[in-house]
Amino acid sequence: MTEMWWIRRDARLADNPALLGAQEHGPAAAVFAWTPPIDQWSGRRRAHLARVLSSLREATGGAVGIRRDRADNAVLAVAREHDSRVVWASREYSPAGIRAQEAVQRALADDGRELRFVGSPYAVAPGRVVKNDGDEYRVFTPFSRAWREHGWRAPAHAADPDYLAAVDSDVDLEAEAARGDSEDPLAEPVEAREAGVLDAWHEFVENGLGAYAAERDRPDLESTSRLSVPLAFGQIHSRTVLAATGAIRGDAARKFESEVAWREFHADVLFRHPRAQRESLTPVIPEDAWARDDESADAWAAWRDGRTGYPLVDAGMRELAATGTMHNRVRMVVASFLVKDLHVPWQRGADHFRRALLDYDHAQNQLNWQWVAGTGRDAAPYFRIFNPESQAAKFDPERRYVRRWISELDTPDYPSPIVDHATERAASLADFQRGKALRAG
Ligand SMILES: Cc1cc2nc3c(=O)[nH]c(=O)nc-3n(C[C@H](O)[C@H](O)[C@H](O)COP(=O)(O)OP(=O)(O)OC[C@H]3O[C@@H](n4cnc5c(N)ncnc54)[C@H](O)[C@@H]3O)c2cc1C
Repeated sequence: MTEMWWIRRDARLADNPALLGAQEHGPAAAVFAWTPPIDQWSGRRRAHLARVLSSLREATGGAVGIRRDRADNAVLAVAREHDSRVVWASREYSPAGIRAQEAVQRALADDGRELRFVGSPYAVAPGRVVKNDGDEYRVFTPFSRAWREHGWRAPAHAADPDYLAAVDSDVDLEAEAARGDSEDPLAEPVEAREAGVLDAWHEFVENGLGAYAAERDRPDLESTSRLSVPLAFGQIHSRTVLAATGAIRGDAARKFESEVAWREFHADVLFRHPRAQRESLTPVIPEDAWARDDESADAWAAWRDGRTGYPLVDAGMRELAATGTMHNRVRMVVASFLVKDLHVPWQRGADHFRRALLDYDHAQNQLNWQWVAGTGRDAAPYFRIFNPESQAAKFDPERRYVRRWISELDTPDYPSPIVDHATERAASLADFQRGKALRAG
């Protein structure tokens, strides 16, 4: 009997327990549902997804099916076509992922079939790391300690790409990639092949990891792994990553693992508090302290287009527009600037990132914005406000990063600062004190 693999954020052959489960009793049928929400993604993400899926099809001799439909319809249709009683999938923990899997589960059950979950996009599934009394960790450091103690499985062996049944497709991936590219071009192509992702990761472990702890905050150096895109699309699993770092001694490997732990922490917070996708978990300032959209229209446009007159902010926003990525340190600086210097609600910034980022991941984006805004679970306190000039002096000391992205820097064409940081910082602190008094009273 043919069993099925429902492809979700796990379009890969290596370390994929859902695929291995589906292949246990014979060649598996595999389908990816190109759902209506995907058509709402930014062009750059759609184009990249199309390339990721094309390369998976190539690696499997074209066996994998891509269907344009809701997930419940697509999975049920292929299950009927291949007479699959059991469908295997990796479990998702975001609100949209949970809704989708519940719909698929219902559709299959109503037809006498079963959705069987194995694994998730995380080393430790959200909800698993708990205190002794069963309660959640609110603060990152004790969470990460308990997460390490919990531990994770070793990577699963790679699946046989030829052990798949051929499933029909009705999505033209080449046309989707071309359409996405034309709507929303990227300056540089990003690796879409699983083998290329794994090679780049091995190369980083060999040659990049050693300097990671010391250099990871420097946007002027190519010192980070660039794993966030393949992790977001599921071409590599965090188990595979942690198995490699776990074999290495020293601060750099531990620091790297702690960044992976942030990813798992944010997924855990969103799973436990689905409202965190839109609402501040800790409302720190009074609602009337936020700038209204009409008041902040010019400032918003200057931020979005990289014309605030603060070079590190502008370089970051231009890097984002051109490449679909931005260095983590610079993400923190631009987000802090929007929220605390321009007083724009974090949700608007998060929405802009959703359209611009190639590594967009709902939990990581929303919870990182909350962290910077000081409204999250383990939040940087609201009163810790990034100074865009001292951050630039510290992390881009030779101004190489800002020069790379702002060709008119140091010429009269570059704008003067649109706001005075010291004044806006004082205004934010006053809002914070007012919020504190309101909450206390
Ligand atoms: C406002 C804001 C929005 C963000 N939005 C996203 C997003 O949508 N998708 C996303 O994947 N990351 C997001 N991040 C986190 C982080 O900036 C990126 O993961 C990182 O820049 C990716 O580069 P890298 O893979 O080279 O990182 P490395 O430094 O090599 O880190 C390795 C991996 O650890 C994880 N990691 C590192 N930093 C963080 C972090 N702060 N939070 C969670 N995981 C982390 C990532 O999976 C990353 O790939 C956001 C950060 C901020 C401040």
